[in-house]
Amino acid sequence: MLQELTYGRLENEFYDIEPKDSDFAICVNNNRLLVKRCEHGEVHFPTVSDAKLWAEEQEWNFWREEKFQYVFRMQEVNYFLWMGDAGEPSDAAYEYDEIRQLSFLETKDVCFAACTAKHLHGWYRSNRFCGFCQTPTVHDTKERMVKCPKCGNLIFPKISPAVIIAVTDGDRLLLSKYAGRAFTRYALIAGYTEIGETIEETVHREVMEEVGLKVKNLRYYKSQPWGRDGAVLMGFFCDLDGSDEIHLDENELALAGWHDRHSLPAHDDGISLTREMIRVFEEGREPK
Ligand SMILES: [Zn+2]
Repeated sequence: MLQELTYGRLENEFYDIEPKDSDFAICVNNNRLLVKRCEHGEVHFPTVSDAKLWAEEQEWNFWREEKFQYVFRMQEVNYFLWMGDAGEPSDAAYEYDEIRQLSFLETKDVCFAACTAKHLHGWYRSNRFCGFCQTPTVHDTKERMVKCPKCGNLIFPKISPAVIIAVTDGDRLLLSKYAGRAFTRYALIAGYTEIGETIEETVHREVMEEVGLKVKNLRYYKSQPWGRDGAVLMGFFCDLDGSDEIHLDENELALAGWHDRHSLPAHDDGISLTREMIRVFEEGREPK
């Protein structure tokens, strides 16, 4: 999966530290990230020193006096976010790329960093002002949190819980394809948790809404941070309970159907929880 890095982990503990020129700068503009692609498909972020120079030359927008915010550490290097909507680079080797394009590259570590940074950037961006009294917020120095100096409102990182559901019936697995999206690969049933429901209730509701089926015997599998959509995904296997007749929600899905364990039309891509769960089922290793 995307978060399983080749060297270890993305160290996301919070520190209130200043950037050094050699640290990496993650510069976001309209959901795209500034990167340089090398010949071998590797992707690199600019350094803080590069970003500082370009910000001055190209008059980049920024939201606060401290223009860089520490976000995480990877492979002994600190990463900082440009606290604004980054502008054009002065170096033509760098360009803005969509996160989705980065996700399918072999440099998984960079892709996971990019997704996580994009999630954080969106959160900082949408919490520059207090939602209660519109006062500009300030950054806490002890933990990842912003607060309102006027009314005391504390704003913690926003992560949306969502479920990925493998509905099984013996040697059959339910696969679907989303409607109205450019992304048309096979998927499992998925959906966000609503306010006021348990994760287990989300599983039952989403399966009923999308394909009209009842399920039982829910087994938790694994989770995955999915920063691209600001979510944390929780994977469940469950068994069909009763009729296998599918009633498709055509607003959500283009198709859904049962597939035999030994002839599944989708395989692990090393990126998504969905694909790992499909592989685990194919190998008969799903939690029983
Ligand atoms: Zn306030």
